[in-house]
Amino acid sequence: MQLNEYQQKALKTGDKNRTVREGLLWAALGLNGEAGEFADLIKKIFCEDKRDLTPEVCIQLRDELGDTLWYLSIATFYLSLQMGEAGCLTLDDVAHANNVKLAKRAAEKVIREHPHPQEPRILCTVCGEYHSMVHSEACKGEQQGEGDSWRQEDRFPEALVK
Ligand SMILES: [Mg+2]
Repeated sequence: MQLNEYQQKALKTGDKNRTVREGLLWAALGLNGEAGEFADLIKKIFCEDKRDLTPEVCIQLRDELGDTLWYLSIATFYLSLQMGEAGCLTLDDVAHANNVKLAKRAAEKVIREHPHPQEPRILCTVCGEYHSMVHSEACKGEQQGEGDSWRQEDRFPEALVK
């Protein structure tokens, strides 16, 4: 699903009859509330319950990210009203503008682009650096059977590794 397709569906379930001021206020508070729910879950997992990042927990976290995406859609809608008309600014536009900003910063060496942005990276406890899972498997092989070289908290459920 593309971002604009998502946004069109999301906006069917959101109130679009507020003033720009009220809509942006509602979206900003909702966005922070949902981001807070994501952070609260992370806090409970890592600081209180000290649970593993099980697939079920990852699904809960995914759903909270989805909730933030919904409010991001709403915020973008009301911002588009202020900028001219409904839909003149979309989630695709927001994503594109962010990519342009990141590319500019990377070109200015403010940030560094990862050479393999599609690969999840994990902390390898053998060499102590972040690597792709393939590299970490190689490190694990060098460990000569001393067990798993990945820290439990850096493990990705298989369903999320693709
Ligand atoms: Mg939520």
